[in-house]
Amino acid sequence: MQDKLTLMIPGPTPVPEKVLRALGKHPIGHRSKEFQSIVSHTSEQLKWLHQTNNEVLTITGSGTAAMEAGIINTLSRGAKVLCGDNGKFGERWVKVAKAFGLQVEVVKAEWGCPLDPEKFQTALNEDKNKEIQAVILTHSETSTGVINDLQTISKYVQTHGRAITIADCVTSLGACNVPMDEWGLDVVASGSQKGYMIPPGLSFIAMSERAWQAQQTSDLPKFYLDLEPYRKTAANNSNPFTPAVNLYFALEAALEMMQEEGLEAIFTRHARHRSATQAGIKAMGLTLFAKEGHGSPAITAVLPERIDSETIRKIVKQKFDILLAGGQDHLKGKIFRIGHLGFVSDRDVLTAISSIEASLQSLNLLTTPMGAGVAAAAKILQ
Ligand SMILES: *Cc1c(COP(=O)(O)O)cnc(C)c1O
Repeated sequence: MQDKLTLMIPGPTPVPEKVLRALGKHPIGHRSKEFQSIVSHTSEQLKWLHQTNNEVLTITGSGTAAMEAGIINTLSRGAKVLCGDNGKFGERWVKVAKAFGLQVEVVKAEWGCPLDPEKFQTALNEDKNKEIQAVILTHSETSTGVINDLQTISKYVQTHGRAITIADCVTSLGACNVPMDEWGLDVVASGSQKGYMIPPGLSFIAMSERAWQAQQTSDLPKFYLDLEPYRKTAANNSNPFTPAVNLYFALEAALEMMQEEGLEAIFTRHARHRSATQAGIKAMGLTLFAKEGHGSPAITAVLPERIDSETIRKIVKQKFDILLAGGQDHLKGKIFRIGHLGFVSDRDVLTAISSIEASLQSLNLLTTPMGAGVAAAAKILQ
């Protein structure tokens, strides 16, 4: 059906009408007083979301821009870094670090499993000469639906004394608790099309005092993503280049909605939706891809085993106008992923579960009584 498609992919995520209307306004000059007042307001709102006193800078670019900025603004040529890799995004940060000539030691975990914090502790303890300058990792690994224990890993990094933590919080910020200051995170990167409930195009980076100190000596090449001008202009509620002005309108509106709901309520909603989705999937006889107890609050990956996951995805889209995400790389055709991040309600979760169940039934692949999945999900949500 035309104009009925519901996004249940892990970004872009659905956008509330209030935010869409904010986007539709005429652009204003990015050097105007009016725009400065929006930047001033969104800066405060962003600090609230990050639970930090650090400045949160806004970059016009996707989430990867913020992560790359975090890496190239704090590190120097040939620096040694420890990179967590348990999925597509972990892999990406290894590639970025290598592209800038860093010496990368990779801490791997199998796709579907969380990173083992003890492996980070061991590597950091063995680094007697304090050569490791950063630990780079993904909090919520979107490709596999796994949440990593960022809090514990950050604690080990702080014990090391020299290294900083550079965290991809793109699908955790706005979905679960990421208290930047309390956890001692040094760089937190995120993107607008995920928990923020706005379209793609903005990314955000918050840096601790320690990260800004590292920035002073960092010598990796950079221009558009050099954060020094961003920080300087941010002091005057401005921007070094022409920012995506309309996305700032959207950002302000979306963060107002988030503030009205409250952080606790947002985290609880995502946790409930994770539980309901997991329960629904299991009750219809399918397997969860993420190891038990390590599922992300933003996304649930499903391994339908003998069934081609792309077939299910196709039917769910054709018959029910819901877009699910597929698997990436070696998981293509093996898993599908249900995004429940951002502007998602109980109804969306129930609809997704029942649509998957009905699709399986229409394919003659349902091994459980029709309605068992939706009943299990509804029970969690009641
Ligand atoms: C979406 C996402 C990103 C950013 O991807 P972009 O396409 O650059 O916005 C980074 N990390 C994770 C875990 C993501 O889900």
